[in-house]
Amino acid sequence: MIIVMKPSASPEQINHVIEKVKEIGLTPQVSRGVERTVIGVIGQESKLTVKPLEAFPGVEHVVPIQKPYKLASREFKKEDTVVDLGDGVKIGGNEFIVAAGPCSVEGEEMLIEVAHKVKAAGAKLLRGGAFKPRTSPYSFQGLGVDGLKHLRKAADETGMKVVTEIMDTRQIDDHLEYSDMLQVGARNMQNFDLLKVVGDSKKPVLLKRGLSSTMQELYLSAEYILSRGNFKVVLCERGIRTFETETRNTYDLNAIPATKKLTHLPIIGDPSHATGNLAYVPAMAKATIAAGADGLILEVHPNPEEAWSDGPQSLTPKMFEDLMKELRVVAKACGREL
Ligand code: PEP
Ligand code: MN
Repeated sequence: MIIVMKPSASPEQINHVIEKVKEIGLTPQVSRGVERTVIGVIGQESKLTVKPLEAFPGVEHVVPIQKPYKLASREFKKEDTVVDLGDGVKIGGNEFIVAAGPCSVEGEEMLIEVAHKVKAAGAKLLRGGAFKPRTSPYSFQGLGVDGLKHLRKAADETGMKVVTEIMDTRQIDDHLEYSDMLQVGARNMQNFDLLKVVGDSKKPVLLKRGLSSTMQELYLSAEYILSRGNFKVVLCERGIRTFETETRNTYDLNAIPATKKLTHLPIIGDPSHATGNLAYVPAMAKATIAAGADGLILEVHPNPEEAWSDGPQSLTPKMFEDLMKELRVVAKACGREL
């Protein structure tokens, strides 16, 4: 349930309610909006009866949240969440944010080269996998910690932020040292221990939708992170598996406006993994903006034919630059800055 405080509620009244909730053995999650404070109550709600709380000074009303995902829901928080990565890079505000880079970090030189090019074209985040979730154990598994170091260096040199995948709870310390945003990949969307660890880390998280997950399952995974007190969560639609085989996945664009309606979390689109085909990426990238997303994550490689992973869906830096020009026109038409 959520406890909506009156706009006039004093800090003492708010604290009193928080203490009361804790006393009963439940966890309060406080969201301080511009107008009013809202306190989400997580745990076995039967411990609380609605009536007495409504009688507390400063409480306007108590609303049960019907959805199974509580803290992620629009009912809990009316305003859009904006995830701040620092240095003016914010996801979820009016600015449309683009993350770009290779699927895998293949070395320092190639990464620095791509970073300079995508940054010049307007990308704010540098993407690249150092730990790679590959279908076959014989495929390239990533450079590991060296890859993280290359990402940090390339991002610092170009003034970008790093978003990169964490695959295992044991990798958290290295990520805390080198990454700005922890990507939880599609295959790990329901790795609940990993979700708890990234939640506790309080680092910004990019949570990708699972290969065959419903939107509700995605929101419940986000709930794991939010319920650990980490509200810096950005969702990502990257396509789901359907009966269609012509494209790598089926890009569920419906998920974008639906997520905007059902949750307060930012959502970005990944047409690279959704289509699996560079010929389709530009059209679907434009559609992502039109659908109301807050950003894009795109794979860009200096020489896609030679890429160690996901070459067929990777744009060249020149294609990326041209696409960014088109995206600016669409963004403008949709009232977004890019
Ligand atoms: C990736 O971003 O390179 C990746 C592996 O994505 P996903 O988890 O969506 O497959
Ligand atoms: Mn990839």
